[in-house]
Amino acid sequence: MKVQIYDTTLRDGAQGEGISYSVMDKVRIAKELDRLGIHYIEGGWPGSNPKDMEFYLRMNKSRLKNTKLVAFGSTRRPKIEAAHDANLKAILKSQAQTVTIFGKTWDLHVVEVLKTTLDENLNMIRDTVSFLTGRGLNVFYDAEHFFDAYRANKEYAIKCVLAAQEAGAKAVVLCDTNGGTITSEILRVTGEIRRQIRVSLGIHCHNDTGLAVANSLAAVEAGADMVQGTINGYGERCGNADLIPIIANLKLKLNVDCIDDNKLKELTHVSHFVSEVSNMKQRNDQPYVGSSAFAHKGGVHINAVMKTPKSYEHVDPGLVGNRRKILVSELVGKTGIMLRAKDLEMDLGKEDAKTKKILKLLQKLENEGFHFEAAEASFELLMKKAFKKYKRFFELEGFRVVVEKISNKKVTSEAIIKLKVRGIKEHTAAEGDGPVNALDNAVRKALKDFYPTLSKMHLSDFKVRVLNEKAGTAARVRVLIQSQDEADTWSTIGVSENIIEASWQALVDSIEYKLLKDQS
Ligand SMILES: [Zn+2]
Repeated sequence: MKVQIYDTTLRDGAQGEGISYSVMDKVRIAKELDRLGIHYIEGGWPGSNPKDMEFYLRMNKSRLKNTKLVAFGSTRRPKIEAAHDANLKAILKSQAQTVTIFGKTWDLHVVEVLKTTLDENLNMIRDTVSFLTGRGLNVFYDAEHFFDAYRANKEYAIKCVLAAQEAGAKAVVLCDTNGGTITSEILRVTGEIRRQIRVSLGIHCHNDTGLAVANSLAAVEAGADMVQGTINGYGERCGNADLIPIIANLKLKLNVDCIDDNKLKELTHVSHFVSEVSNMKQRNDQPYVGSSAFAHKGGVHINAVMKTPKSYEHVDPGLVGNRRKILVSELVGKTGIMLRAKDLEMDLGKEDAKTKKILKLLQKLENEGFHFEAAEASFELLMKKAFKKYKRFFELEGFRVVVEKISNKKVTSEAIIKLKVRGIKEHTAAEGDGPVNALDNAVRKALKDFYPTLSKMHLSDFKVRVLNEKAGTAARVRVLIQSQDEADTWSTIGVSENIIEASWQALVDSIEYKLLKDQS
């Protein structure tokens, strides 16, 4: 059995709060999904906005290898001919060879929202589908609100999908548009529909009950052979079904084929890539691909993982391109350090003098307020320094940060920095939204010609915590910075009595980690 994966990140995903794609963003995502082997990509609604139309026209020039581009639109308006419908004209103009048409199936929507008759809605479905199939297009029918429709008026809901099938639709897609249906009901209804139609059957779930992934998988088990969803579950309200765990679960748990075996390990990368282009923070706890998905903490637990990974891991992280993460803290002790060292391909024995030395250093730093559990990149650098597997990428000669407030004008921040890179002195200045941002801008400006890949990373999170509050203004602060690029997310730490100094430490670790990573 094979399931077709249909991605709607560029349409439904683009409805997510905080997401706005430029045409170029959409092109980049489409190419990445093509590489992954996604079968269909819905690019948008050519009739609804000029940006979507531009995307189709742009994509017509670039050839996709594995993916078919799909245009999206609605059934014709009531009481007009399909050929006169502006939306349908736009779909033809997009030149997409596959079209998904959504239409009403819920009698309540037909009468109350569309303000037309149940018969006219059936005509609209038939006319629209046959108008497009008559022009040689491959048409899918998205049955909007299908599960609510089925609950309200089963006979009519079935009539709607049969009308689409009779008019030549190649697939009928059952949509849980409001996202409120429970898994057992999805399973039962999908099974009933499977027995009544002969074309391909798709499922499109929204996540309002937190069940979109489970619902999509249940539909497959009931006979659906196409799953619609978005990368990372982006979408309006609570999002759409997340294709990342859907693909992993289909292949690894249900033994259902969808994308190629050798593409499965791209999942982590694709998830990060899309979060990066979408300007969304990668969720650490995202199943399979989040940075904490295979993180281990606590001595006993780590001992077990070290002996046999299966004891605490449901799958091998490498299968989806992720990796195991050992959280380092005082509690973990020698075993944790050894395991972490092994991950980094450094050999450490339990009684090794080096292990003891690192443990001592770690305890000293933790006493000062460093907390490496949440800063694995800083820890890795620390280990590499201890093993002399590290060379400096630049040396700081000094920096100065000026924060200025004049009467009631906006506060301005400027950083001036002096560095030495490969024997060359760099002296730059930059402004920023705050002192740390100014410093970040200045150091990147100084390094950009030497290390061009730095332009591909950015800071995705910045956290400050006051440590010993009682000391008042002289208290130490801990700064945690999270950075990301198209492939990874990593965290670094700095501790000082001065917030700029602490930020600087975390910033330097973040940059060095990126450069070290790119080098290997
Ligand atoms: Zn949707």
